[in-house]
This record gives sequence, C-alpha cells and structure tokens, in this order.
Amino acid sequence: VIAVLAGGVGAARFLAGLLAVVPGRDVAAIVNTGDDDNFHGLTVCPDIDSITYTLAGVANTAQGWGLQDETYQTLAMLRQLGAPTWFQLGDRDFGTHIVRSELLRSGLSLSDVTAHITQQWGLSLTLLPMTNDRVATRIHATVDGHTVDLAMQEWFVRERCAPPVHNVTFEGAHSAQPAPGVLETLERAERIIVAPSNPCISIGPILAVPGISDCLRSRRDDVVAISPLISGRAVKGPAEHMMRTLGLTPSCVGVAELYQSWCSTMIIDERDSHEADAICALNMQAHITNTLMSDLDAAATLAKVALSQP
Ligand code: GDP
Ligand code: CA
Repeated sequence: VIAVLAGGVGAARFLAGLLAVVPGRDVAAIVNTGDDDNFHGLTVCPDIDSITYTLAGVANTAQGWGLQDETYQTLAMLRQLGAPTWFQLGDRDFGTHIVRSELLRSGLSLSDVTAHITQQWGLSLTLLPMTNDRVATRIHATVDGHTVDLAMQEWFVRERCAPPVHNVTFEGAHSAQPAPGVLETLERAERIIVAPSNPCISIGPILAVPGISDCLRSRRDDVVAISPLISGRAVKGPAEHMMRTLGLTPSCVGVAELYQSWCSTMIIDERDSHEADAICALNMQAHITNTLMSDLDAAATLAKVALSQP
C-alpha cells in the first residue's frame, strides 16, 4: 500500500493524480481532522470532505471548497433565524454533515462513517482520519494588539487568515489515539508520501497524534514529501504568511527543516532548484521536478515521481 499524509485541497489534487497511476485499493490517505468543528449541531470535517468531493469529481475547484452547482437556501434560512452564518455551507454539503452526524450519534466511529461516505461515492481508496478522538487545531493570533486563541475555522474563514499567527497548538492531541489502521498502514506501507499540504495546520496535527511521528521516524528512508511552497509562495492558502509569522522560513528549505527528522526526500519545484543544496545539507535528498498540479496529468506525473524515488 502507498500511504499519504493528507490535508485538504493540496492533498486532494495530489491524490487524484496518484489514483491515475495506482489502483485505489493500494492507496490509504491519513487525513488531518484538526480542522473539524461543529456547526448548527453538525460535525463538519473540512479536509476529509475536500478529498472526498475532489475524488468523486463533485468539488467546486474554482472556489476551493464545497461542491459544484451548490445552492445556499439552508444558510439563508439560518441567517433569517439569527444563526451565525460566517461558515458557509451549501445545501448539498449539509447532506454530508447530516449523515455523518447522525451516524456518529448512533455510535459509529469517524473512521466507520468516513468509510461509509467514501463507499457511497464509489471511491476505491481508503481514507483514514488521523484519529477518532477530538483533536482541535488552535490558532494563537494577534488581533488589535491582543493575543486571541481561535478555532481553526474562526481564524481561517471568519477572520480570513488575517490575524498574524504566533503559535499553533493541538488541543486534545496528548490523549488522542491514532485511528484504527493508521499505525498499521504506516508500518506496512511500501512508500509514505507527504502530500503538498500546509506543514503547520495540515501535516502538523497528524504528527501531534501520539505514535505517528515515532512510526515515521522508523520509516524515514521510505518517506517522501512534496513541498507545498513554490518560489516561497503557497499555491493556495495561508502557508507562506503563517510560516513567516511563526518564525519559520517560508521556503522548501523551511519545510525540509520541519520534516528532516522523519523524512528522507523532498520533492521541490524547478523554480526552487537553488534550494537543493541546503536541503541536502539537512541529510535529505532533494528531487527537482514540476510540482505545480495545473491539471490531472501534471498531478499524475508528480505522483509517478514521488513513487519512483529510491
Ligand atoms: P487545505 O487544508 O484545504 O488548506 O489543504 P492542504 O493543506 O492540503 O493544501 C494547502 C497547500 O497545498 C498550500 O500550502 C498550497 O501551496 C499547496 N498546494 C495546492 N496546490 C498545489 C500544487 O499544485 N502544487 C504544490 N506543490 N502545492 C500545492
Ligand atoms: Ca484544512
């Protein structure tokens, strides 16, 4: 099996490419759940849903979240009734959260619910939530000179990523357990690929679940990461700005520094070839290729490169 550590959109695009070159039964993605939150009594799992919708071919790729051909009547009604509606949810999207929440209430685990939903979409890969326990990414940011502690979606959506971030913590991580299959998959995988996802808020929470980083360290030679930054910029999202305010270097080298203790190879973009030497100095291999997944072909080519690293 090929294991992939996955956030949302960057991971979803990479997984689409991987599934063009490897059968889904041989792919297991371990997905960040630190973004999960509760809205209107429903459990929302943004990264699991981004991956599911993308692979099912129903994602709104232009918008970067939610479904194609979506309507927002439910949200309009919630607003009419005075409910907070800064977190946008479309009518079809609500269906996912209703089914998930109902199944969770009936006693199923998030793993079981995720398997059910991916099966309904006919997806052949395995999506494993990093944990079935509650882990919440907390963003410690500065607003009007004051430090505030925000839930991930409050910072990301309500505050539009504007408040400078000076720390990120993972509430509940200490006592969380990896979901069933997570450690087994990482132990047995032929290859472990870190998708081009945000290192701080997509990969960071996965590493915070006890047992996962130890397991990765023991597999270091088989771990390959794709840099989510190209020319020091995130293709989409706040990675660059966030790394800078956290005191990290927003570059492939900066990402390599975060991953070096458990990852042996970084795949970086042609535009960043000058960073290869500094990555090698961290006792890692650097492989230079096109990492911009402009279409499915480009994503599939990138997946082949990740699979073919020694
Ligand atoms: P989110 O949870 O939806 O924000 O998703 P991720 O953390 O998985 O993805 C966000 C990261 O994906 C950003 O840092 C982007 O720079 C990166 N990303 C998105 N598309 C591409 C791409 O085509 N190539 C590379 N190298 N990175 C990408
Ligand atoms: Ca996310």
